[in-house]
Parts: sequence; structure tokens; C-alpha cells
Amino acid sequence: MASVKSCKQCGKEFEGRKNKIFCSLKCKSIANNEKDLLLRKTTRRDYAVMERNARIINSYMKSINMDRVSVLKSALIDQGFDIHGPFKLHFETENQPLYHVGDYWLKDLSKSYIITNAH
Ligand SMILES: [Zn+2]
Repeated sequence: MASVKSCKQCGKEFEGRKNKIFCSLKCKSIANNEKDLLLRKTTRRDYAVMERNARIINSYMKSINMDRVSVLKSALIDQGFDIHGPFKLHFETENQPLYHVGDYWLKDLSKSYIITNAH
């Protein structure tokens, strides 16, 4: 059953089947390209955050010269660490995720991390 609706991409009104959301193939492909671009941007941004977090952890651990330490999240945030990640999740025990960041494992406690050398 055909009905009048407006194109999700250009807003033009068109008649089409219920599940059709674009007026033309052109609009459909523009919308899909924009979606891809958004996805790529997110990935690049996520990658940049992970790289920066790895650098911060590596240099922090090098500066204190320890293989295992408990550190307040706020102290890492002060250095530019992004506690929202994204993180490479290694595994999770008792609701405490263990992340792989740089050369270290980070055990995520509520206000702090336990950082352990991964080597
Ligand atoms: Zn359109």
C-alpha cells in the first residue's frame, strides 16, 4: 500500500511503500555515505583517545618506576586521561573490568585503577 511521506534525506514528499524512507536512490546513497563518514570519524576519534590514554599510562608508570600501583582516577584525569575510554576490555571479574592500556592492565575500581605491568 502506497502512502505519501517525506524523504528522510531531502524532506521532499513522495509516494512509496510503507518501508521506503528515501525518495530516490540518490538520497539513499547520500544518507548512507553520511552514515559511513560518521562511523569513520568516530573510529578515528576513539583511536586517538586510546592512543593518548596509552601514552599517559606508559609515561606515568615510567615516572614512578613501579610495576603495580593503585592510582586515583582524578590524578590521571589531571594528566588528560579519558576515563570514558573507549578501552580494550580484557576480561571482567566480579563486575570489575580489566582494560589493556598501553603496556599495562587497568583494573577499574570506582574511584581508582589498579595498574599492573602487562609484561
Ligand atoms: Zn530525497
